[in-house]
Amino acid sequence: LVVLSGVDKHFGALHVLQGVDLTVRRGEVVVIIGPSGSGKSTLCRTINRLETIDAGTITIDGKELPSEGRDLARLRADVGMVFQSFNLFAHRTVLENVTLGPTRAKGVKKAAARERAMELLRRVGVADQAHKLPAQLSGGQQQRVAIARALAMDPKVMLFDEPTSALDPEMINEVLDVMVGLARDGMTMLVVTHEMGFARRAAHRVVFMDGGQIVEQADPETFFTAPTSARARDFLSKIL
Ligand code: ATP
Ligand code: MG
Repeated sequence: LVVLSGVDKHFGALHVLQGVDLTVRRGEVVVIIGPSGSGKSTLCRTINRLETIDAGTITIDGKELPSEGRDLARLRADVGMVFQSFNLFAHRTVLENVTLGPTRAKGVKKAAARERAMELLRRVGVADQAHKLPAQLSGGQQQRVAIARALAMDPKVMLFDEPTSALDPEMINEVLDVMVGLARDGMTMLVVTHEMGFARRAAHRVVFMDGGQIVEQADPETFFTAPTSARARDFLSKIL
């Protein structure tokens, strides 16, 4: 569904992505791990063209991502993204946060958008907060609203960049549980996370990045018990 081929990205003299090849199949859950600065966020951001690339190609559902224009907006709508900081619209209610995208960008009628939004808010467990402002919610609740908002656009793939790292410990699981549910329902997901429990529970594949390259990838069981590269072993010894 998502195919990156020979993707290169520089920030000035810094070669942040170095010939990255990565394929995410429909319904697959891929977890990306790696040291700070290894290029995980940049990789996510290139997939919905929040960052341009210098070389290589990215295709989503068989269509190559253009660098600009109307097609870009349409392809971007296929990619839902959830960040570490929840990025909700502060002056809109929870419900409005979820309905704005579909009504503005996809021309969905208000009533239909509200109905769908309530269904999604129920799914992530915050329907009772629909008429509050984001600031009145806990971090875990806000992140679940952010997930509902992304889902409201009917994306083909969901990208998560450290969705739980800004949360207090007791709220991490409520967000991870929603993500595990999504994974079980067959959503295609690319997840940058330090939550190895999530990787073990939900990932089909773990991708280890270091220095802008994919160093190693394997199913979670193999990766965590028998990593083949020295760099992955070193990284795991620090976090496990
Ligand atoms: P972390 O685990 O800390 O989130 P990461 O793996 O997500 O790290 P990236 O954020 O992708 O790493 O950054 C990769 C490299 O690119 C880092 O050296 C970073 O300093 C650099 N970088 C990222 N964004 C920019 C930018 N907009 N301008 C210049 N350099 C950048
Ligand atoms: Mg990052």
